[in-house]
Amino acid sequence: MVCTNCNKNPVITISGVKLCSDCFIRYFERKVKRTVRQYELVDPKDKVLVAASGGKDSTAALYILNKLCKQRRQKLEAVIIDLGIGDYSKKNLTNLRKVCKKYKIKLHEFSFKEEFGYSLCYIKSVLKGKGFDIKSCTVCGVLRRYVLNKFARANGFTKLVTGHNLDDESQTVLMNQFKGNIWLSAKLGPMGGAVKSKRFIPRIKPLYFCPEKEIELYSKCMKFPVLYKRCPCIVEAYRNRVRVMLNNFEQENPGTKNGIINSFLDVLEFLKSKQKGKVKYCTNCGEPTTAKICKTCEILSKLKS
Ligand code: SF4
Ligand SMILES: [Zn+2]
Repeated sequence: MVCTNCNKNPVITISGVKLCSDCFIRYFERKVKRTVRQYELVDPKDKVLVAASGGKDSTAALYILNKLCKQRRQKLEAVIIDLGIGDYSKKNLTNLRKVCKKYKIKLHEFSFKEEFGYSLCYIKSVLKGKGFDIKSCTVCGVLRRYVLNKFARANGFTKLVTGHNLDDESQTVLMNQFKGNIWLSAKLGPMGGAVKSKRFIPRIKPLYFCPEKEIELYSKCMKFPVLYKRCPCIVEAYRNRVRVMLNNFEQENPGTKNGIINSFLDVLEFLKSKQKGKVKYCTNCGEPTTAKICKTCEILSKLKS
């Protein structure tokens, strides 16, 4: 059994086609660039900021987008927010610094400790002690989005790249359905955000059609210095249960995740059209929100209460 293109040892079979490491790398990068082109994720005038974590997904997105932006002579920089999850965060930061140094990418570093006074784990335990049982991933997602959006806007970045992949997105679509929050899905899609606002920097997902398994293989073929273990906080997440269920289902019924995403994209524009004009600004901090007070201010006021 050899690579269908070049007779080398195959590393993966995709839709019956065997690919060696080099052919798979080319296939994967082409797929990401096609998503960028098809959904017009990066405009020639864009100043691009990659929200990196040091993990395989955002590192793959960073590497490919950096290559693309270099070809187009466009500005690209990276940003990381240290969550303060012990050794996990430390190793991710060290790894990302190595990647940025190797590919000459300017890296901006922030931390929850500097921004909010405490690490993610400490914030979560203080909230719990005060009777607010908010999951780590909720706190992490809300506070991280807040810091990233503010930094990107203040520094003239016009697109914020995230490493979200096909698995993440299909899980989120299902989670919103299961919880009866279908309108929340209007924020999803390769170009995130339900409404346009100058204060909201659009988040783009170049890995939108890439399954997590392919990203892991790409990262290994590219020998990126990344940790392949999951964030320790994931175990308590609702998402994790949906992830396990969906992976089992995909194994028995290949194509399920693609089916979820493709049918979701068929109705996405309708969902977005119903959200038009609904943007509000937090009365406390001025950031875009769907309520009177944004989620960040809500969490921070609970923390101080
Ligand atoms: S698993 Fe949850 S806590 Fe960990 S990085 Fe992801 S969102 Fe944040
Ligand atoms: Zn606010």
